[in-house]
Amino acid sequence: MSVVVRFAPSPTGMLHIGNARTALFNYLFARHHKGKFLLRIEDTDKERSTEQAVEAIFDGLKWLGIDYNGEVVFQSARIERHKELAYQLLEAGKAYRCFCDENEIEKLRHDSRSDNEKIIYPDRDQERFSANEKPFVIRLKTPITGEMTINDVIRGEVTIDACEIDDMVLLRSDGTPTYMHAVVCDDIDMGITHIIRGEDHLINAFRQSYLYEAFEKTPPIFAHLPLIHGSDGAKLSKRHGATSVSDWRLLGYTPETLVNYLITLGWNDLNKDMFSLDEAIDKFNLEKVNNSAARLDIAKMNFLSGLYIRSFLAPDLVSRYHHFYREVNKQTLSQEQCSVLIQAVPLFNQRATTLKEFGEITKFLISDDAITPDTKSKELLSDSKNIYNLKNLMLSLETLDVWSNDRISETFKQFLSDYQLKMPNIGPVIRASVAGTVNTPDIVGVLALLGQEKTLSRIKQTIADFC
Ligand code: GLU
Repeated sequence: MSVVVRFAPSPTGMLHIGNARTALFNYLFARHHKGKFLLRIEDTDKERSTEQAVEAIFDGLKWLGIDYNGEVVFQSARIERHKELAYQLLEAGKAYRCFCDENEIEKLRHDSRSDNEKIIYPDRDQERFSANEKPFVIRLKTPITGEMTINDVIRGEVTIDACEIDDMVLLRSDGTPTYMHAVVCDDIDMGITHIIRGEDHLINAFRQSYLYEAFEKTPPIFAHLPLIHGSDGAKLSKRHGATSVSDWRLLGYTPETLVNYLITLGWNDLNKDMFSLDEAIDKFNLEKVNNSAARLDIAKMNFLSGLYIRSFLAPDLVSRYHHFYREVNKQTLSQEQCSVLIQAVPLFNQRATTLKEFGEITKFLISDDAITPDTKSKELLSDSKNIYNLKNLMLSLETLDVWSNDRISETFKQFLSDYQLKMPNIGPVIRASVAGTVNTPDIVGVLALLGQEKTLSRIKQTIADFC
């Protein structure tokens, strides 16, 4: 059997990382089996679906490096087909017109809840009206007794009593299909062999299995992925901060980080932190997916992100940062700024865990703005002894006709010996002056990158501000 899977997001918000993981697992499974990975946008809910959310799905998948086969299927374009299939079931006596109005439904629900029994709708055996007499919905006639068992690849065998499943609505009174019906029609028409999706859909698998029975089709193989929880063990929600692919992207994480991290939240057979999609495709095995909820661990994610930041060659890291910068600031960097950043990579990449952090700690190198010293720097620069030392160092630096690591280093040595100082007496002070923070890498390297003109003008400004 050749594998056909689908990712079927509803475009009602940003691409949630739980959904991104579902997409990834479907993708890995399809590619591993040399099958097809299809994309279906479930946009039948016109009130909640937005263009922007559709774009977020396309963008997110592209950014993660997940490509799909064939054309995207928009569920809303298939409504006539959904209707046709609902009427087929009606004609075959497997579905019925239900003429209950809201009050009747309310009463039926109330009565059945007290009796703990499946609702038997009055039109189930004999429709009370004809189609043009009263508004109606079309319901599936599901069994009253017996059991339904699903053999889920991840969860194992799960059985429920037939009476737990309501005669679900297939077509609403305005003729639009419900989610439950549309999904099954589409999965059948698209030849889906395996449904891999979040555990929150497990109950739907039972409902959908009854629909497959009605259509006399074998249901696909189900695999329900455990949910992703926040670090506190609660279901992931806005409260936990970043929950969508675009949130993570705007925080400066690279797609490799997100891809690796999301895959290991559920499947960890490779036993390593960094791996390519191809390696994952090669080894992926649905049977080895964990069946307990995964917890999002930001510390782990940052650790992985740092590994990636350090693994990129300097031009690659800067080009990634430039993309990120453009997206966030809607501005570009000059070629000169990029070239300073490329040279800065070996000094700074150990200190950044994300592209955003890389930008923050190197900003002072490429910015023409005046430096705003942080609290610790202000404290140091408010000490007149430090300003006195800074002035003297500036006088030496001013005399340099060649601005190179060697010459700056010699100047420092000479200055320290002339004034009987040690590096800790001046290092933090000059950092505070040129970078606004005492936390920079090797100061000689930093000054060399900053250039003589900027170095001197920043020191002069510090002296003017703190004298
Ligand atoms: N559209 C559903 C969702 O976004 C998924 C349906 C399915 O995978 O069966 O949750």
